[in-house]
Amino acid sequence: MQQIDNHNPSGGPVLAFQEFIHLESRSQIDLDLLRGYDAIILEQETLHYGIQIIEKLRNFEDNRVYLMPVFLSTKSENNLLNNLVDGILDDQDIVDSINRSAEINEIVHQLPIPLDHWGYEETILFKQFQYLLSRNKDLTAIPTRHSKLGFHFPFLNGFFKQSEKLQMLDLLEHAVNKRWLIPKLKDKINICSSCYGGYLNFRESCNKCNSIDLNVVELVHHFRCAHIAPIHDFDRGDKMVCPKCTKELRHIGIDYDKPSQVYNCNTCDHQSQGAAMKASCIDCGKENSLDKLITRSIYDFQLSALGEEIAKYGLNKAVSASMPDSTSNSNHLDWAIFEIMLKNEMLREKSGNINSYLIFINLKQKDFASFDLGTKQKLSADILNHLSNYLRPMDILGLKNLLQYGLIIPDMEEEKVVEFCELLLNNIAVLLENNLKLGDDFMEINLIKIDSNAKFPWA
Ligand SMILES: [Zn+2]
Ligand SMILES: [Zn+2]
Ligand SMILES: [Zn+2]
Repeated sequence: MQQIDNHNPSGGPVLAFQEFIHLESRSQIDLDLLRGYDAIILEQETLHYGIQIIEKLRNFEDNRVYLMPVFLSTKSENNLLNNLVDGILDDQDIVDSINRSAEINEIVHQLPIPLDHWGYEETILFKQFQYLLSRNKDLTAIPTRHSKLGFHFPFLNGFFKQSEKLQMLDLLEHAVNKRWLIPKLKDKINICSSCYGGYLNFRESCNKCNSIDLNVVELVHHFRCAHIAPIHDFDRGDKMVCPKCTKELRHIGIDYDKPSQVYNCNTCDHQSQGAAMKASCIDCGKENSLDKLITRSIYDFQLSALGEEIAKYGLNKAVSASMPDSTSNSNHLDWAIFEIMLKNEMLREKSGNINSYLIFINLKQKDFASFDLGTKQKLSADILNHLSNYLRPMDILGLKNLLQYGLIIPDMEEEKVVEFCELLLNNIAVLLENNLKLGDDFMEINLIKIDSNAKFPWA
């Protein structure tokens, strides 16, 4: 541990005073140890322990600790670690580090801490925004092979296990939809559909038996007799002779050409013009066909004005600042309220001779699993808007989740409601097919008469 203060060389007043704590490799850190210090100096850290200490630090509840400036004593061989700290002592005058630390802490001391009743995801976004604000920098995705996705987001990364990194991207996209972060496209990744790993090995395999033991064989086309065969059929030691017309082939381009190649499988002997490219996952071993890989965009993010508000004043104020969210234009009900309305309609049916129907629209999870949260939210907003266009004033629209919608259609004849249902089905199908490439059968619609015996698909 070391106390460093920064005296003006002329003996004038102290410009800043920051107390640093030195942490060595494998130091155990706890709150009591860190309180009372202003910044941390990591000694010669290996990547693993360095990240471990930083991520543990970011998990504490006290903002003076989770936002504490961290410096490396000397530059790490790994660029990732260099990117996670606020400075490297070797690289700069100690006074600069002290000033940097003081600058960060001055902001940190004005920031609130997360409240107990916030959810986990709200809390980490809030802390992340504070981190960006106190450092006055953007959230930059750092390419690294030490992350399963291939990219590391400073600060946020420590809150997600390796297997949950896709949720991390979802959370960031959620923040973009809320206009808390402003994205800038950086890269696209293709990841394993089973474990979301980005460490993939691409190679060709047999169309028939999936073996990767393939030979590529060139085809030879003899102009004179038009015979085409694999090159080894022409091979006669030091010359090439056509097996069909027995003429010698001398000059490529004059006697013959090589129009294409074929793949010969050494496992099953299958011969074909093309081989399937497969991506095998180094982490879990899954063989992914290319169209089954999950493609996601990687962005750098800038904190928006609203994001800054959240960092400074907490989430509640910003949420009530009521930025219009993408679904707020349509008149739909939360599902809990929708279900109450549905119960009312069942009671109404009991007391009189009425025909009311429930339409339940279910977009199948499996067809939409590979879409990111942002796409699904956009889709859902479009569908809600679309549905509300068709509704009469007395009809009720409910949103169960981004893929499931309910409609209560009071007082309509069966024939009419069936027609109405078909109209909806067609229109949603057109809407989705125009926007996305989907297989057949990605949606089901249930039409249920509302009476006291009615069974609902979600119950
Ligand atoms: Zn995998
Ligand atoms: Zn084969
Ligand atoms: Zn020939």
